[in-house]
Amino acid sequence: MHQFVCSRINSRAVVIVAVFLLLFAFSVQAQTKLTPVAIQLQWNHQFQFAGYYAAKEKGFYKEVGLDVTIKDGGYDSAGHAVVPEAEVLFNRAQFGSTRTDLLINHSQGLPFVVLANIMQHSPYIFLTTDQYDFDRLEDIGQYRPISLNLPNDGDERMDAEAIAALKVAGVDLTSLNNHFPTWELGDLLSGHTQLIPSYSTDEPYFVKKAGHTPVLIEPRAYGIDFYGDLLFTRQKMLDEQPEVVEKFRAASLRGWKYAMDNPAEVAEIIIQNYETRRAAYDKDFLLYEAGQIKKLMNSDVIEIGYINRERWKKIADIYLSLGLIDQYNLDSFLYVPAGTEDLWIEYKYWIRLLIIPFLVAVGIIWYLFSLTAALRREISKRRLAEKTLKTQAELDSLTGISNRYVFQQSLEKEFARARRYHQPFSLMIMDIDLFKEVNDKYGHQAGDEVLRSLASVTDNLLRSTDLFARYGGEEFVVLLPNTSLDETIGLAERILYANRHNSVAYNGLSIRYTISIGVTEILDSDRVVDDLFKRSDDLLYAAKDAGRDCIRLSHTTDKSSR
Ligand code: GH3
Ligand code: MG
Ligand code: MG
Repeated sequence: MHQFVCSRINSRAVVIVAVFLLLFAFSVQAQTKLTPVAIQLQWNHQFQFAGYYAAKEKGFYKEVGLDVTIKDGGYDSAGHAVVPEAEVLFNRAQFGSTRTDLLINHSQGLPFVVLANIMQHSPYIFLTTDQYDFDRLEDIGQYRPISLNLPNDGDERMDAEAIAALKVAGVDLTSLNNHFPTWELGDLLSGHTQLIPSYSTDEPYFVKKAGHTPVLIEPRAYGIDFYGDLLFTRQKMLDEQPEVVEKFRAASLRGWKYAMDNPAEVAEIIIQNYETRRAAYDKDFLLYEAGQIKKLMNSDVIEIGYINRERWKKIADIYLSLGLIDQYNLDSFLYVPAGTEDLWIEYKYWIRLLIIPFLVAVGIIWYLFSLTAALRREISKRRLAEKTLKTQAELDSLTGISNRYVFQQSLEKEFARARRYHQPFSLMIMDIDLFKEVNDKYGHQAGDEVLRSLASVTDNLLRSTDLFARYGGEEFVVLLPNTSLDETIGLAERILYANRHNSVAYNGLSIRYTISIGVTEILDSDRVVDDLFKRSDDLLYAAKDAGRDCIRLSHTTDKSSR
């Protein structure tokens, strides 16, 4: 039994240890294996994307389990414009950087989701120089050669901000002397064109460098205040890997904060690690760009990445009024980071570190607890078994009083004690009269019932210090410690009387019976227990001889009866 318990506990321990080893291995695996994702930029490597480089090079992505590839944009080897929306839509990149025009794609049913508005204001400007002598859209006129990206020009990239600003300025788009932009700055400086679309973060720097004075016409002056670069993904990515999306978003924003705080270091990182494809993009330029971007991000006032639903609504309404879209749904377009989720991401790393020791501790406690519980169960089981054994060993199964074994033990003990301390001590033996007849007349079971009844009737008359036992068959004994024969006589008479008047109910019958009793007390001359016992037994037979239903007692070894 004990061995069985032990082997059960051991096998449980093996299972627990195995489970924890597996958990540990799994968590180590989970921490070392990085999830690969890519972000598609909309132009060449430059400070415009500084946050992503910073997040990668400073290990922010790795810390959250991501291995990020940063893909530059511009034109591919076949001369086609790389469109981040297409790259993300077809899952060649999981994330993209683009502009507010993403809303047009979304309204057309393409499942994109804005994750963060990196630049709170658009860098988009109309660029000219002081040599053309105008600084308002209203003054473009019909003849001035310009190069804007207007509707129906066949390019998939359209400048909604330009169109909106022109409309607010009351310019008739059909009357302009417009040619699709060549994106060559030299065309502006040579007079080939007098107005080009541009980024405040980029071309003005080179115009100045070429010895000219740039003139910037901002859509904001016409009430058109769009967001600049934003980070986006597609709905399916968000549905299937929300954790990856949140991790990428949080790590990217952390990278952007780092880039804004350390522009020189990040500019150096870009030069060292990212082929800019344009020799002119040197460190001096990148730092100029950084300064311009800082203004557009307004990160001293607005939390980096903040998405303002009301501003998006205004932008969407402008698109609507321009006829660029006919409906929009911001609910599925704008990502809502759960407030608690940021906290969760931040503490997740520590929770993951602590969870293994915690589980191990719980496991050990559980193991020890189940061990003590098993031991406790075992102990109580044994106690119960011992008690049952003891009960079986000490009590008479028919009557429930002490058995012959207990009587003999007690008799020895009391005999010795009475002799040592010279205390009185009496012994009473009783036997049912003509019990054979009871059995013959009513059956053995009726006889059993009489035995039980006798035991109960007699027990009721005794003191707690007296020992009442079934000696065997229909013979009973009473041990009366510290009791003289004289003190016992009254009790013997009450027992005789009570049994004589007892009627035992059995099967609707009432059975009557009588008993004979022999009583004696210990004498100085008694050497062994048997001397006392035999004297009592002899007195019992004397009672039988005297006609039964009576008591015989003796103060002496002599068999005279009373
Ligand atoms: P006496 O007055 O001389 O004692 O007559 P008696 O019939 O009682 O004679 P004796 O004591 O010799 O007989 C004992 C009888 O008690 C024998 C047996 O049938 C019966 N007996 C003994 N033990 C049990 C028992 O456990 N149950 C029943 N029903 N009868 C028992
Ligand atoms: Mg008998
Ligand atoms: Mg008898």
